[in-house]
Amino acid sequence: MVEEEKLDAIVVGAGPSGTAAAITMAKAGLQVALVEKGTRAGAKNVMGGILYTHYLEQVVGEEWKNAELERPIIEEQRWMMTGQAAISFGYKNFRNREHPHSYSVLRAKFDAWFAAQAEEAGAFLIPETVVEELIVKDDRVVGVRTGREGDLHADVVVVCEGIGLGSRLLEKTLIGGKPLKKPLARNQAAMAVKEIVAMDPATIESRFNCDPGEGASVECYGDATRGLSGFMFIYTNKETLSVGGGALLSEMTDTRLSREELAKRAPNELLNHFKRHPAIKPLLQGGETVEYLAKMIPEGGYHAIPRLYGNGYLVCGDAAMLSNPVHREGSNLAMESGRLAGETVVHAKEKDDFGEAALREYRLRLDRSWIMADMKKYDKAVPLLEHNPQMLGKYPQLLDRALDEFFRVDGVSKWDKQSKILKMFRREGGLKMVRDTIKAAWSMK
Ligand SMILES: Cc1cc2nc3c(=O)[nH]c(=O)nc-3n(C[C@H](O)[C@H](O)[C@H](O)COP(=O)(O)OP(=O)(O)OC[C@H]3O[C@@H](n4cnc5c(N)ncnc54)[C@H](O)[C@@H]3O)c2cc1C
Repeated sequence: MVEEEKLDAIVVGAGPSGTAAAITMAKAGLQVALVEKGTRAGAKNVMGGILYTHYLEQVVGEEWKNAELERPIIEEQRWMMTGQAAISFGYKNFRNREHPHSYSVLRAKFDAWFAAQAEEAGAFLIPETVVEELIVKDDRVVGVRTGREGDLHADVVVVCEGIGLGSRLLEKTLIGGKPLKKPLARNQAAMAVKEIVAMDPATIESRFNCDPGEGASVECYGDATRGLSGFMFIYTNKETLSVGGGALLSEMTDTRLSREELAKRAPNELLNHFKRHPAIKPLLQGGETVEYLAKMIPEGGYHAIPRLYGNGYLVCGDAAMLSNPVHREGSNLAMESGRLAGETVVHAKEKDDFGEAALREYRLRLDRSWIMADMKKYDKAVPLLEHNPQMLGKYPQLLDRALDEFFRVDGVSKWDKQSKILKMFRREGGLKMVRDTIKAAWSMK
């Protein structure tokens, strides 16, 4: 059907960014193909994950209420861990009962539902089809070549391929002799893994202190990742837990380390280490792992953002390196950038101009949005952790020992305890810890 025809737009990848772009364009009456390599949208997609409904609503309106979501997140827990303790901060927000803004999701279900919305809006979903290359003619992207017979042509190609080993279209495509994106540096991405653990709903609710149907998120730092820059998580779904986490690729593969040390940092080993922790083990007891998934997360910050537009193409979501790991946000940046790209193409269609100057509107809209404001704000967050390993290693241990002393009732007077804690802080770098914490907050002002 589409072999000889020129479409208005081709979207590569039916993740949150691609589907949001496809829905936006299809709703405006454009002819859009949404090409997805999975057997169906979401088949192999990975996310923790917590999805933010505000951005979903921007794309599908009230229909978001029928989305395949798991549990509204009523409680957020953050744990700083050492080998023998967990220092926790919890926030239970009952307002989220009336107007939840964040839900746990399973991408296999959510992406399939979201892609069906794109079809409903009029987009052609083409699953089980790998886009092998972007077709470039006279320094302009004019279509895609897939594993199937016959090229697809369009006025514009919206690249939403995510990141990872299987997502290298932009790196492979040359315009003016230059690739559209540089290969990822190892400190620009985290490697993350996740298990889906089956558990009956009543057990989930009693272990995570939730009311029926409601959910919690637990995110753990420090010893949880063996001190590496990243975090581990447990998110409650309807009948499963999502258990996983990740850390900066450069730290997992640090060539200065011995083979034994590197083995301890392997993603699967980090996950097992986390699951063995005495604060985590009882939460998972009796659960059965039914799925195991791995994927990369962009963590390069504002400076790693590649060129986002050019003659005949736009780039969104993870492929555009739009992600905020400090706030575990990625799917929302993906949906919002997809929506903005879709609106830009609709304007380009009105002007019948898909050249670089017309598509620059996308970059301008991103620059004026919260997306770029957040990308700039957290640009230094990951390098800060990377260059200060004490923040997730030595400092949590120091705090743990101070709290142990404070809470232990052992015949020592409170005056003596106080002076012991102060001495320990002075001797072991407590002042530097305070300075580093202020420096970290200042660098993200
Ligand atoms: C373990 C983990 C936990 C996360 N937790 C959260 C969270 O809690 N909250 C949050 O907001 N974000 C989270 N994220 C980030 C979030 O998953 C991403 O930011 C989001 O999925 C990006 O969407 P995307 O559409 O840009 O890319 P993707 O979701 O990666 O989608 C890309 C799509 O393109 C397809 N594709 C790729 N190449 C081709 C090709 N050549 N041809 C055809 N199809 C192709 C893929 O199959 C896929 O469907 C997490 C990520 C990971 C890995």
